[in-house]
Amino acid sequence: MIPGPFAYHRPKSVQEAVGLLAQWGDDGRALAGGHSLIPMMKLRLATPGHLVDLAGIADLKGIRADGGDIVIGAMTTQHEVAGSDLLAAKIPLLRETSLVIADPQVRYVGTLGGNVANGDPGNDMPAVMMCLGATYQVTGKNGERRIAARDFYQGAYFTALEPGDVLTAVRIPVPPAGHGSAYEKLKRKVGDYATAAAAVVLTLGGGRVAACSIGLTNVAETPLWAEEAAKILTGSTPDAATVKKAVAAAEAITSPASDRRGTPQYRTKMAGVMLARALARAASRAR
Ligand SMILES: Cc1cc2nc3c(=O)[nH]c(=O)nc-3n(C[C@H](O)[C@H](O)[C@H](O)COP(=O)(O)OP(=O)(O)OC[C@H]3O[C@@H](n4cnc5c(N)ncnc54)[C@H](O)[C@@H]3O)c2cc1C
Repeated sequence: MIPGPFAYHRPKSVQEAVGLLAQWGDDGRALAGGHSLIPMMKLRLATPGHLVDLAGIADLKGIRADGGDIVIGAMTTQHEVAGSDLLAAKIPLLRETSLVIADPQVRYVGTLGGNVANGDPGNDMPAVMMCLGATYQVTGKNGERRIAARDFYQGAYFTALEPGDVLTAVRIPVPPAGHGSAYEKLKRKVGDYATAAAAVVLTLGGGRVAACSIGLTNVAETPLWAEEAAKILTGSTPDAATVKKAVAAAEAITSPASDRRGTPQYRTKMAGVMLARALARAASRAR
């Protein structure tokens, strides 16, 4: 339970952090809240020789509106996401999701950027970001670029980030006024990762689903965007038969691991149950 030796660096700017990380390549790692990385280091599943702590970079903090988007700095904590009045008004799904991550102690220190950059399929925010159509702002040795959350996750702990990259912010288009959303998470106890979870954003028009997006957590090596299931629902009332078809389409794209949370079959079924509940709650909240 003791990490390997490492050097600690505390840059004051994104450029300085990128310079340090680029210098060490695979031997350097960004440190945010440390609530995933430090446990991995204690288990010797990660053995970076250099930790670049992002906590001293003021530019990486804060939540602001920018045109039709909300931009959240990578070092904004999960607690700050849950407590933001702007997010509660514009994207309440983020508050709802933050509040089912771990426990208050973890949320006080764990960051949004760390949660989405980590690449653990058990993290809750990545599927929510896919559902919302978010984009990640990244600065690397060749400058800035934007990566869609839906293109970011490539395998367990394998993302589109290159050595030397710093994720600086998450940019989320504000869903239309009157939209409904919900995040349903099955966990064994408070503070646990999801056995399965589902995020839904939908808008209704004339009693029918005008638009719908669905994300699934911890039922594959990566978070999933359930595009086909959402297509099935779009245009429907949504009646029980259509919901059943959409749930079946979502279950079909899952491939969960067997672990202490259950067998693959059980976790797939629970993803379906979470989705049906999230759809019902999102529809009841839509105006
Ligand atoms: C007891 C416990 C329970 C938990 N339960 C849950 C849960 O239910 N749901 C959930 O989603 N999470 C859970 N977590 C994880 C928690 O949310 C972490 O805070 C989160 O996964 C990582 O955020 P962090 O700020 O701590 O990042 P760190 O641990 O510092 O970093 C994680 C990884 O991301 C990289 N990274 C971090 N920030 C950046 C950046 N800006 N740019 C580039 N790379 C970066 C790091 O190099 C590292 O590889 C739990 C953690 C604990 C200890």
